[in-house]
Amino acid sequence: MFTSELATVSYIGATILFILSLGGLSNQETALRGNLYGMIGMTIAVLATVFGPQVTWAGIPWIIGAMVIGGGIGLYAAKTVQMTQMPELVALMHSMVGLAAMLVGFSTFIDPEASKGFVGAARSIHEMEIYIGILIGAVTFSGSIIAFGKLSGRIGGNPLLLPARHWINLVGLLVVIWFGREFMNAHTIPDATTPLIIMTVIALLFGIHMVMAIGGADMPVVVSMLNSYSGWAAAATGFMLSNDLLIVTGALVGSSGAILSYIMCKAMARSFISVIAGGFGTASAAPAPSGDPAQPAGEVFPVNALETAELMREAKSMIIVPGYGMAVAQAQHTVYEITKLLRDKGVNVRFGIHPVAGRMPGHMNVLLAEAKVPYDIVFEMDELNDDFPKTDLVMVIGANDIVNPGAQDDPNSPIAGMPVLEVWKAKTSIVMKRSMASGYAGVDNPLFYKENNRMLFGDAKKMLVEVLTALKA
Ligand code: NDP
Repeated sequence: MFTSELATVSYIGATILFILSLGGLSNQETALRGNLYGMIGMTIAVLATVFGPQVTWAGIPWIIGAMVIGGGIGLYAAKTVQMTQMPELVALMHSMVGLAAMLVGFSTFIDPEASKGFVGAARSIHEMEIYIGILIGAVTFSGSIIAFGKLSGRIGGNPLLLPARHWINLVGLLVVIWFGREFMNAHTIPDATTPLIIMTVIALLFGIHMVMAIGGADMPVVVSMLNSYSGWAAAATGFMLSNDLLIVTGALVGSSGAILSYIMCKAMARSFISVIAGGFGTASAAPAPSGDPAQPAGEVFPVNALETAELMREAKSMIIVPGYGMAVAQAQHTVYEITKLLRDKGVNVRFGIHPVAGRMPGHMNVLLAEAKVPYDIVFEMDELNDDFPKTDLVMVIGANDIVNPGAQDDPNSPIAGMPVLEVWKAKTSIVMKRSMASGYAGVDNPLFYKENNRMLFGDAKKMLVEVLTALKA
């Protein structure tokens, strides 16, 4: 058993490890170490809590039973989930944090033991913790479930824009504040129950409304924003349970998620405030003037694997732009083999990574690191965008929205204003994908019809293997 002092020391140790973990995760080279710190910190935190002073021996079998079931499900999910389904899994996990905050809030509310000893201002603060904890938990829970539905394609990507939706949100907020007052003024549990339940229902509806109003291409910001919300939900749970470590950890997740959301908003030229208010990405509501934006419009120039290999051989400099399709096809290892071969032949091969390439923040970096692509040839969009005019060949592998010139040229495009990799400025670009289908944002891509662009149709893995064979021949 951990004494109270030992538990406190363990919590401080775990907090330091969590901070080191976040620091480590900011860079690919130290990410593995960062993960390790996080795992050790979490093990210490769980042990110090389960065997700590707040848990009686009678409760331990329950906790262990729950951990075995929860851990088993987590292990199974982590082992079976495809890399491309990761964002959905993350969204589901965020929903669990929200649900946990709600459940802890309700159980703290109905358990007379939990509020024992709170009088005067301390009681008011305790009640406020419950109210706000359930509020954040409910928004996180329902918002994350909708995000899961959207990311997994179970719910359409188009934004749901109710008339006067901002007014609906504002009225919802005022009602929540009003019932908060009612809740705080209630003297008995039955009196306080009605305001609490009304607020929970409004918060659940708000979470649904907020994420439903967000357009497909803007989902990355929502994923990281819900990450932040789940942190605040955990911090609120920490307040309710008087658990310092949960407060600190929740605050770390909450603030780092908020910073990531801010960085992504900047990278996508979106306003942070409009994301928080919901209804983000509403530019997509404006109808495109020239017919259906998802319909192909023009002639394309197809090439085969042999011609692609020929273009690669002739190039002195080449930039590879990977996207979601590379992840689906699991083509990263073949991409690296081609890279190695070309580099050995003296071609300057670099990778250009868009901040929202794939389906989650950092998706491409993870895949390339897995394939052992050296970090020093992997560049962010901003670092490479000026280099495209000086580049002989760009290979776009299963990417679409992130290389769409319409984001710059067409103010009516649903992705107008989103910074993109300016691949069309290279001498030649080759887009590798299976068909003329649009990407996640559902818009046609004028890049495909440019004179200096070639299309290599087929599954990324299959085509790259063919290109590799041709290069070796
Ligand atoms: P896109 O979704 O725009 O395009 C991917 C392309 O890959 C598709 O057009 C598809 O075309 C092609 N593709 C699919 N499977 C294969 C395959 N097996 N082989 C070859 N090609 C394939 O992806 P991008 O990476 O360009 O852009 C990311 C998009 O996802 C952005 O709109 C972004 O906002 C959004 N998003 C990003 C998140 C993040 O955090 N990074 C989170 C949620 C959304 P075809 O069917 O013809 O093969």
